Amino acid sequence: MNSVGNPAPAPAPRLEIRNLTRSFAGRAVVDDVSLTVAAGQVTCLLGPSGCGKSTTLRMIAGVETPDSGQIVIDGAPVFANGLALPPERRGVGLMFQDFALFPHLTVADNIAFGLTAAREAKARRVDELLERVNLTGFGPKHPHQLSGGEQQRVALARALAPRPRVMLMDEPFSGLDNRLRDGIRDATLEVLKDEGAAVLLVTHEPDEAMRMADEIALMRAGRVVQQGAPYNIYNNPVDRAAAAFFSDIN
Ligand code: ADP
Ligand code: MG
Repeated sequence: MNSVGNPAPAPAPRLEIRNLTRSFAGRAVVDDVSLTVAAGQVTCLLGPSGCGKSTTLRMIAGVETPDSGQIVIDGAPVFANGLALPPERRGVGLMFQDFALFPHLTVADNIAFGLTAAREAKARRVDELLERVNLTGFGPKHPHQLSGGEQQRVALARALAPRPRVMLMDEPFSGLDNRLRDGIRDATLEVLKDEGAAVLLVTHEPDEAMRMADEIALMRAGRVVQQGAPYNIYNNPVDRAAAAFFSDIN
C-alpha cells in the first residue's frame, strides 16, 4: 500500500511480447501474438506441430527477426521500432531438443562455457549448479560417460549458468526415454523455480503443459487462441478443437 491507500503497482512482467508477427512467403506463421511471463513463472506455449511455436521462441531469442511487434524484457525493449538487440545482449537462456554438449569439454567446462566471471567465481557457480541438478562430483567427467538424462541436466545447468532473465525451452524433453521423462520434467521444474527466471516452454504435448505450466498459451495456426491457468483451459476449452487437443490426456 502507498500513502493514499492504493495497492503498489504490479511490477513489470519479466517478459512481454506485443503483437508479434512473422510471415514466410506471404503466410503469417506467427500472427499478432501477445503474451507476458512473470519472473519465477513457467508459461507453456502449447500447440500442434507447425503452429508457429518455435518461430515465436526464435524471435524472442533474437535469432529470427519479427516483421512487426515488440519484445520487452524487464520493462526495456529488446526489439521494437528499428531497435533489435543481438541475442547475447538480451539476457535470454536457450535450451532446445538437441541440446548438444561440447563432447571434448568436461561437464564442468560445458557449464562454465558462457561464463565470463573470474576463475573462482566460475568454479563456485559450476559447483552450485552441479548440486542443483543433482550431479555433484560429475564435473571432471566427459559427456559420453553420462546417460541421456544426465546430459540433459548438464544442458540445463549450462543454460542457467549466466543467470538468464528469461529461459526459452523448445521441446527440451522430446529426445528422452518415456520412462524417464516425468521425473526429469519434475526435477527441471524444481531447478527452474529455484533459479527464478521467467520460463517460456514450447511443447506440443498437453500433458507436459499440464504438469509444468503456471499458465498455458494455446496456439493454433500462428495465433494464441486461449491463455490461462492449466485447469481453466482444460476444463473450459475455448472451442471443440481445443477440447479435442486436450482429450488424449489421462
Ligand atoms: P512449431 O514449432 O509450432 O512446430 P514452427 O514455428 O517451426 O512451428 O513453424 C511454423 C511454420 O512456419 C511451419 O509451417 C514452418 O514450415 C514455417 N517456417 C518456419 N521457419 C521457416 C523458414 N525459415 N522459412 C519458411 N518457412 C518457415
Ligand atoms: Mg517447433
